[in-house]
Amino acid sequence: MDLTTPLTYVKGIGPARAAMLESKGLAAVEDLLAYVPFRYEDRSNVKTVAQLAPGEMATVIADVRSAKASGFHRRSLGLFEARFSDASRATLACKWFHGGYLANVFAEGMKVALFGKVEFDSYAGELTMLHPEFEILSGDDEEGEATLHTGRIVPIYEGVQKLTTRVLRVFTHRVLEALAPLEDNLPAHLRQSLKLPDLWTAVRQTHFPPPDSDLRLLNAFRTPAQFRLIFEEFFWLECGIALKRSKARTLPGIAFDIDDRVRERVKAMLPFKPTGAQKRVIKEIVDDMKEPRPMNRLLQGDVGSGKTIVAAEAAVIAIENGYQVALLAPTEILAAQHGIYFKQILSKLGYVVVLLTGSFTSREKGQLKKLVAEGLAHVVIGTHALLEKDVEFQRLGLAIIDEQHRFGVMQRLSLVRKGVHPDVLVMTATPIPRTLAMTLYGDLDVSVIDELPPGRKPIQTKHATADEVEQVYSFMKRQIEEGRQAYVVYPVIEESETQAVKAAEKMYQHLSQEVFPDVPVGLMHGRLSADDKEDVMQRFREGRVKILVSTTVIEVGMDVPNASVMVIEQAERFGLAQLHQLRGRVGRGAAQSYCLLVTEKMNDTARARIRTLVESTDGFYISEMDLKLRGPGEFFGTKQSGLPSLRVANILRDGEILEIARREAVDFIAHPPDLEDLRRAVTYIRDHWQRRYGLVTVG
Ligand code: ADP
Ligand code: MG
Repeated sequence: MDLTTPLTYVKGIGPARAAMLESKGLAAVEDLLAYVPFRYEDRSNVKTVAQLAPGEMATVIADVRSAKASGFHRRSLGLFEARFSDASRATLACKWFHGGYLANVFAEGMKVALFGKVEFDSYAGELTMLHPEFEILSGDDEEGEATLHTGRIVPIYEGVQKLTTRVLRVFTHRVLEALAPLEDNLPAHLRQSLKLPDLWTAVRQTHFPPPDSDLRLLNAFRTPAQFRLIFEEFFWLECGIALKRSKARTLPGIAFDIDDRVRERVKAMLPFKPTGAQKRVIKEIVDDMKEPRPMNRLLQGDVGSGKTIVAAEAAVIAIENGYQVALLAPTEILAAQHGIYFKQILSKLGYVVVLLTGSFTSREKGQLKKLVAEGLAHVVIGTHALLEKDVEFQRLGLAIIDEQHRFGVMQRLSLVRKGVHPDVLVMTATPIPRTLAMTLYGDLDVSVIDELPPGRKPIQTKHATADEVEQVYSFMKRQIEEGRQAYVVYPVIEESETQAVKAAEKMYQHLSQEVFPDVPVGLMHGRLSADDKEDVMQRFREGRVKILVSTTVIEVGMDVPNASVMVIEQAERFGLAQLHQLRGRVGRGAAQSYCLLVTEKMNDTARARIRTLVESTDGFYISEMDLKLRGPGEFFGTKQSGLPSLRVANILRDGEILEIARREAVDFIAHPPDLEDLRRAVTYIRDHWQRRYGLVTVG
């Protein structure tokens, strides 16, 4: 038996069980070994029932004497009671509320391990445990295997369909018995400097911890054995990423020239003084652009932190070098907004800015495409329409992608392929911790704007229930009297835009006719024609419309500094990132801004989301909470096909080990202590990349 042996070769695993295991991706011996316990229980101190004392946490092993749902007056609670006794002849009563299902679990005569808090029921005069953890011990164990489940620190596995933790424990044990010690591929210098146990020891001790293990460390996944496995998984991943990057670095790219003339042009364009953070990131970008290899940079910055102007600076550099710039945006509104902004700041330099979205007629598009193909347009801004095959550039030098999390890797590529290794700048307002970003977007360098433009006051966020909405309206009224403007946003309900449009239309009627008859109100949603959208945006921007009722189409893109109130209706239906984005539409000017979250009915996670927003305006903190509340899978979405599937490591729990692994990997690839080590590592990654991380290629 070796790591690649199919699990059907393990004693006790027939086709039916193999199929169950397969459903969790467990096909070969290696997979089962990577399926580590999710917690551990100390059953080393097993007592007899007679030895139990009230108040202590204890494990007993006893036989089922009786088991039944108890008396009719308690039936509504579904109380299930079972009695256990052992050689000491004392009995223990165990109770489970809503335990009806246990009728099919316990049968008289079974041997069971019970773990829980011992109490004395003075009414019945007996020892009890309420809701103890339990594990059925009777089963088809081989000789010697009974000791796997008690009398030690016991690994607890997540069940796989009908396969219980107990069965999985037995299988894992059988595999470990049958295997020869595993070859350790981790470079020896790392094992020494980090004092890591060898692979074979680490695997065995993670599944079956030695008697003197620290239970707290085990359950925190920080014993040396667990650390080693987590580290190793991250290490190979980071080595793969480092190799990929070093390969990308050898591609020929454009070496943009940045002399005093170009610098003067950039200065002439700037409408304001950049913040320190903006200066720092533009320097990082400039350094990349000067190099004769393609830039691949991710620009992270909270909503309103001023990413656009940084992109504009990069654009000026590219254009002054005789190249064209493409800017891809996820929504028509954002593209339109960028169109206006770039026209405004770049026209004084004499550049031609073109907007290309799906709402143009094909004749119009044809003309615009011609401008692009002939190189007469310097900057081309657009939505997915930009990705169409027949959009050809004469000389694309810089591709900018805004809100990149809305696009997949392939879309990024299809834009980049319109040039010859152009520089690429992707921007996101969903910031995540740096090391995580560098891992997930492995081929990207990361720049962070961590400072807001001067004079911004943090947005004040308040929560209101639907029956307090009158107060919300009178607050809006006062703000409008002071000269400010407001947004009122409705969610898209169950993916149905029609519904949301209807709700927004209805509310528009209500607000414009009944609540604010004297105030000009505008309506914005995805079903409006491009002209109507543009028209209402323009009127809102100029302050002729005071209240803009909208669906979430305004989530990104609106930039009206005079707007100071954001009212979000049915806020419980929005995700955290989306709420934060919407809130970011206000707080863009000097006046104090407000975000009012109006909710109807909430569950616990909705409440947690609302609380997070009321408490914080920090985009990094909010994304981290979002990641925690939704879990990595949902957070990054399927579009982010670069997300590796980790087995032992957990990106949320093990951030600090990821940092260490990344540092060591980068160092190892750049300065391998000996070339034989590096050669072995490269081969190892090539052979295991797909299988370990579900990623397609290293190179
Ligand atoms: P985001 O990072 O969300 O894309 P924007 O680029 O839209 O942010 O910038 C938000 C607002 O802040 C815009 O109105 C922009 O003109 C303004 N802004 C950006 N940087 C500065 C600065 N250094 N000084 C003053 N205003 C700035
Ligand atoms: Mg932006």
